[in-house]
Parts: sequence; C-alpha cells; structure tokens
Amino acid sequence: MLEGEILALPTETVYGLAALALNERAVEKIFSAKRRPANDPLIVHVSDAASARAVCRPCERAFALAEAFWPGPLTLVLPKEPCVPDSVTSGLDTVAVRSPSHPVFREILHRVNAPLAAPSANPFGKVSPTTARHVVESFGENHPPVLDGGKTEHGVESTILDLSGRVPRVLRPGPIPPSEVERVLGERPSLSGRREVSAGEPAASPGLLSSHYRTEAPLLLFPSLSELLEQARRNPPPPGSHLLPGEPPDASERLPPELVVLPLSSTGSTREIAKNLFAVLRQADAASPPLILSHLVAETGLGRAVNDRLRRAARTS
Ligand code: AMP
Ligand code: MG
Repeated sequence: MLEGEILALPTETVYGLAALALNERAVEKIFSAKRRPANDPLIVHVSDAASARAVCRPCERAFALAEAFWPGPLTLVLPKEPCVPDSVTSGLDTVAVRSPSHPVFREILHRVNAPLAAPSANPFGKVSPTTARHVVESFGENHPPVLDGGKTEHGVESTILDLSGRVPRVLRPGPIPPSEVERVLGERPSLSGRREVSAGEPAASPGLLSSHYRTEAPLLLFPSLSELLEQARRNPPPPGSHLLPGEPPDASERLPPELVVLPLSSTGSTREIAKNLFAVLRQADAASPPLILSHLVAETGLGRAVNDRLRRAARTS
C-alpha cells in the first residue's frame, strides 16, 4: 500500500497529496508533483497522539490539545524526532503534526501503519481542492490517483499552532479558533506568530507566503458585504466581472445585470462560507472574468481563517 507513491486523499479540511513521511523518495514526489519550494515544510499526519510520538516530542500542552481536538483540524508544531527527513521539515528542528478525522484518510493511515505527509493536492500557490474533481482539474492529464471522499467538511486548511516556544503561537488561522485553544490550555495563544514572507526567502519563516491560493483573474476585496454591493451599483466593474457576496443579495439591491453573482453561501453563515470558499473561487476563475470582487467577513472565530485565505488570494506580489 502506497509503497513510495503519492495518492490524493480527502481530509476534513481540503484534499491532501499523501506519501510516506519517513521515505525521502516518496516525499520528493510530493514536492515535484506540486512544484512546491523546498523551504515550505509539510504536515505529517498520524492516527493519534500515541503514533505522533514516532515523529515528534509532545509536551503537556500537546497532549491536552490532542485529547481535545484530535482527530481534527488542529496541527501542532513540536520538536522533531531524528527519523523525520529534513525534506519534510525544510531543515527545521520542529515538525508539524496532526491527526485527520476523515474516515477515508484514517483508513489509509491504518492500512499503511506509518505517518503520511500530505500538503494540499494542488500545484503550489493555487486555490486548494475541496473535491476530488478539483484535484483532477488542477493537475490536468498527469493528475495523481485520487480517492473520492466527497466535498470536504471545513473547506479551509487546519489551524497551525506552534508549541515549540515558550508561548503557543497561531501560525495559520483555521477551523479551531484561538478561543478554543485558550479554553483547553488556560492561556491565550499569541496571534502575532505569523510573519509574512515572500517566495524564495529561506526556511526560517516556512511557507507562510503572503500570496497564495492565487486566482488567475484579479481578486478585489471590500471590507464588508454592504460596501461590495454599493461599489457594484455606483461604480460597476467591467461586464462579466464576478461578484462573490457572502450571501445572496436581496433583489432590491438592483445590481447591474452584466455582473455574474456567485454567493459564497445561502445563509451568510461563516461555516458555510468557509466550506464553499475555494470551490466558488475556482468556479469564478474558470470563467476568466475581468475581475472577481468579494469582501471580508467578521474577524472572529472561523472568520479569521476565511479572511486570511481571501487576503492571500487577493495579493498580486
Ligand atoms: P499545508 O500546505 O496545508 O500542508 O501546510 C503546511 C504549512 O505548515 C507550511 O506552509 C508551514 O507554514 C507550516 N509548517 C509545517 N511545518 C512547520 C514547522 N516545522 N514549523 C512551522 N510551520 C510549519
Ligand atoms: Mg497548500
């Protein structure tokens, strides 16, 4: 099973491109299939906290968080064990670990009985896949084999929490908000850990590129739904531009008919927006519109993860 090959698998966040994490040649296949730079380390997926001990040295905080949130969308950065190849960690002395909850991914973990590295199953820097079809579309003819597990539940990647320092730091906002981490640890994680870096910078600041998830068409963001709608009415963007409001606009909004409206949810719930975000971005982008326009949501809970992905998709540098 998986002997050194790559396989796209559903997780509860997005689809991942999985390979044996302790097999350097298998890991190399992930980097080359994704054209991912070597300074962007991979997350290692394990069945549970006990099997995490094969790849990292968990602390008290890690055990408490794993108990509360695993299996689930929380990745912990911890001191690594020597068996983890440098290619997985980009030469860092820490490794990012999580236990996914998707039954298909868990079944594969169970069968291979070894940790799996699995970044999102798409070419580097592009919009992450939330369906098996997205994986096939984004790699084209030479796509890796994919196990179809339906549309993913959360739609945005895991929360990444660095536990290797004195204070826990959120490196990437995701489905588990800082308030939930605080509830378990009794201390508020620092949110300032995310230092943005540019492509080509060395591994000290891994992966957290300010531009990611990029659409081909330019994406313009407004601070709120009402500001997006007002702009679309008063100063309409070029015909064929795609408008991505968080919820379906009221008919009374009288939007110009030459705009295409693709709501990110039917109810305005942040959960639903997160779940649909990448699929709707892909759908809009596939029409090669002159512009895509959307807006930020309330910066609380899962809203922080949605805004983080939107902001990074909108960056051009
Ligand atoms: P993904 O692309 O969803 O697989 O997430 C991988 C991201 O996890 C990387 O881009 C890094 O930002 C982060 N990451 C992985 N390993 C480490 C690590 N050892 N230290 C800090 N961040 C890490
Ligand atoms: Mg990714």
